[in-house]
Amino acid sequence: MINIEEFWEDAKDGLSISIQAISFEVWIDTLKPVCFTENSIVLETISANAKRTIDNKYRDTIKEVVNSLNPSITNVIIILPSQREEYLNRQSVFIDNEGFVTSEPPAQKNKKKCPFLEKYTFETFVEGKSNSFALAACKTVAEDPGHKFNPLFIYSGVGLGKTHLLHAIGNYICKKSPQSNVLYVSAETLVNELISVIRNKSNEENNKFREKYRSCDILMIDDIQFLIGKDATQEAFFHIFNDLYNASKQIIITSDRAPSDLTMLTDRISSRFSWGLTVDIQVPDMETRVAILKNKSAQMKFDLSDDVAEFIAENATTNIREMEGLLNKIVFFSSLTNNVINTRELAAEALSDFIEEKKDTVDASDIVGAVCKYYKITTDEIFSKKKTKNLVEPRMIAIYLITDLLPMPLVQIGEIFGGRDHTTVIHARDKITDEIKTNPRVRITVADIKNMLLNR
Ligand code: ADP
Ligand code: MG
Repeated sequence: MINIEEFWEDAKDGLSISIQAISFEVWIDTLKPVCFTENSIVLETISANAKRTIDNKYRDTIKEVVNSLNPSITNVIIILPSQREEYLNRQSVFIDNEGFVTSEPPAQKNKKKCPFLEKYTFETFVEGKSNSFALAACKTVAEDPGHKFNPLFIYSGVGLGKTHLLHAIGNYICKKSPQSNVLYVSAETLVNELISVIRNKSNEENNKFREKYRSCDILMIDDIQFLIGKDATQEAFFHIFNDLYNASKQIIITSDRAPSDLTMLTDRISSRFSWGLTVDIQVPDMETRVAILKNKSAQMKFDLSDDVAEFIAENATTNIREMEGLLNKIVFFSSLTNNVINTRELAAEALSDFIEEKKDTVDASDIVGAVCKYYKITTDEIFSKKKTKNLVEPRMIAIYLITDLLPMPLVQIGEIFGGRDHTTVIHARDKITDEIKTNPRVRITVADIKNMLLNR
């Protein structure tokens, strides 16, 4: 069954391309997905005024985009907040994974509903040097919760897979031992729940809150940094933590920084994190990024060419979510124009509004400098006449990159490289062009150096 929130996120990705940024923010980003009915998606807007504008100006575009994502949705219904209940109470219509509309939710006989996102599993998580340790720790914990690494603390920059790994653990446990009570909450939700308990001063709600947390077998708190400065929640969390820990229940925590950098969290909490295992996820290298893109595109049944994968991976280096955003745009454009984007040039054109053009700030000495740094050789060596193997490849790659990135005459390039003939320049350029096609090591080296240049 399609998750409406996710479906709408995907649709918004598409809409952000066809609708101007400012209008997008005002009219589209403020819509809330409500439900699917018959052949429609129902979206809630904030006011009658907004409804009028959206109906008149944007409904057709929205229709087109949601229909391209799922052909069984052919209509868009914009409603006001006051109509929300009415729509939710109508008999809902479900759309299965194949895109067929059914009036029944898919059979889930005797099965407790698994609250984790289906797409975030261990199988869909691509392993690389940057995350292998974290991945191994998560698998161990999923296999044998509560025993080996408790608590497990995972930290990384944004968009590098923390939430994905939590869902993967959840999915794994739900499947393996459906009777286990796995609780996933973002720290933000925890704060809001607690505020509500405190405000209402009702014992019943307080008990419900305690029961919810103390009855779980595995507790995952996502983005714990959100508790910084929230003293009351920290206090509540401290007690929940102790109770669960003493009962050998698994606790998994993620954060955007290391425990030692969670300075505003009371010491007694952050010191507890060191009782278990702390792992971090680094920024993935070029090879892993390309593998992730290939994996995601296969999930979307989109045939992503190597060239386009590399182009995207070069332009989104530190945040996988952003990288996926670029991929979604390529997939979306390809479906709109029926003109599959499969070359670097087409990708650059399609994404020109979304990536910064940094090329023209690079000059020949930057390129030579980056190549020398990569191969750990000196500029004297790269310009020299020496033909030792360790110098020939970097020299040819530097020449190739200059021809690729700069509008510099070949003769002039020859001059930079110790007065070499322009035919030598042509030879180097063509040789590397060929190698990029046939030799993955050279391809990745060139991509990594470009990356260094574009992300200085
Ligand atoms: P975080 O919680 O660290 O901010 P997320 O878990 O939300 O990051 O990841 C952002 C996106 O990147 C998700 O769509 C996730 O599936 C994807 N992603 C991150 N790392 C990987 C990986 N190694 N393999 C596959 N997808 C990944
Ligand atoms: Mg997250």
